[in-house]
Amino acid sequence: MNETIGWIGLGNMGYPMARNLLKAGYALNVYNRTASKADGLVNEGATLANSIQELCSESDVVITMLSDDQAVKGVFLGEGGLLNSKATGKLFINMGTVSPKTSYELEEMSSAVGARFLEAPVSGSVKPAEDGALLILVGGEEDSFRAAQPLFEKLGKLSLWLGAVGAGSSAKLAINYFLALTLEGLAETVLFAKKNGIKAEDMLRIVNEGACGSAITKLKTSGIVAGSFPAAFALKHMAKDLRLAREQGVDFPLSQPLVDTYNKALEKGLGEKDVMAIITYLETSATE
Ligand code: NAP
Repeated sequence: MNETIGWIGLGNMGYPMARNLLKAGYALNVYNRTASKADGLVNEGATLANSIQELCSESDVVITMLSDDQAVKGVFLGEGGLLNSKATGKLFINMGTVSPKTSYELEEMSSAVGARFLEAPVSGSVKPAEDGALLILVGGEEDSFRAAQPLFEKLGKLSLWLGAVGAGSSAKLAINYFLALTLEGLAETVLFAKKNGIKAEDMLRIVNEGACGSAITKLKTSGIVAGSFPAAFALKHMAKDLRLAREQGVDFPLSQPLVDTYNKALEKGLGEKDVMAIITYLETSATE
């Protein structure tokens, strides 16, 4: 609890996660590309850093929760980035979803400047992030994992050390592959039922009350019924995760059609909507 935490990335996930550390009593420095997104946390006691370098020099552990590989590389490697800061002795933890290759590179470069690196992508969306109930999938040195465990306990209901760097991102891509399949299956099921005169709310009740119901089908039900998809997990991030899963070797009968569907939904401008907006794409493409 004596450590000072630096947090970079206050999007849909980063904000509630950082807030949990603040509520747990950690001293928290925050930085976000769009600085105004830090206002709420600053009002609650966090300190806004004016630059990544300032945040790094004032923190013992730096956690990043950013969109994708490009954003994370920019924050680590860019001019004024973490690895061009006073990084010796720091522990860097990247919790966003990136490729295993990016994680290896960041570990190597962190080590070259005397810092430690963990990858710790998460499973679970905004509500589990708010509730401190994420699943945290960790790759890296076991000692670093043990050092970070007290922090992970404030962010998640379970943190799993899976092995060397690369293992955490690989597990994350695998669980999101299942999520993408599940959401596409749910969307197709509801649309198939509707085509034959069954209302969406009735079909969803059948799904949720039966053996196929799950936390995710229940979570997505109200949005499907209302036809409203404000982003909890943006569709563009799922398209990114499927691209990374393909690069990592996922290759089964459903893999390419799944990637194609999410990409086409992205092309139709649904990227900023919640991932469940895949149903909007499937419905409109069926009538085109
Ligand atoms: P988000 O709401 O889109 O937030 C993205 C964050 O990254 C923002 O802070 C954004 O800054 C920052 N960012 C983007 N590009 C940047 C750049 N080039 N330089 C600096 N900062 C940049 O994303 P999220 O939903 O919180 O997701 C974050 C990560 O967690 C993603 O990898 C996602 O796949 C993963 N994830 C998400 C969920 C979920 O349910 N949402 C669940 C599990 C895992 P600005 O505010 O300035 O745009």
